[in-house]
Amino acid sequence: MSKCDICRMRKTCELILFEDDDVSVFLTETPAGLGHVIVTTKKHFENLEKAPDYLFAWAFTIANKVSKVMLESVNMQGLNLLIEVGKVGHPIINLVPRFENDNLGMKWDPKPGDQEELKTVQLMYESETKSMGVSEDKPKSAPQETKSDDKEISDKEDYRIKQLLRIP
Ligand SMILES: [Zn+2]
Repeated sequence: MSKCDICRMRKTCELILFEDDDVSVFLTETPAGLGHVIVTTKKHFENLEKAPDYLFAWAFTIANKVSKVMLESVNMQGLNLLIEVGKVGHPIINLVPRFENDNLGMKWDPKPGDQEELKTVQLMYESETKSMGVSEDKPKSAPQETKSDDKEISDKEDYRIKQLLRIP
């Protein structure tokens, strides 16, 4: 049988929050803190580029919906989305609630980059990134509410959150 920890957790976990043909969402057995949720693909992928775009889009859609539920359910100060790829054969989105003084040590020290170095990296990336998606079908424009600056939750969004909470 599979020695994959993610598959084992997924199949034996009693803390499943959502599952469909493509993704699985559950509370990890080894949480970084209260309410730590994992969104993962059911299939294995050797590396990131082997996973189809639609699957990432779907996994992030689900992660976003779960995040909204988490933000309403656990009294957190914020939420980090940490993405793991390659290590365990599944792309994993970790939804990690953050609390004051949680000492999770996920800090880095952003500082102004060296302009010459930034330009060099841009040149290395842009030959590929500038033409990204040109030959692909882009999803239709985002729903109106995502264009707002998130100052308040619209009635529409609020309704969806309520609907989500009803899912057993
Ligand atoms: Zn697995």
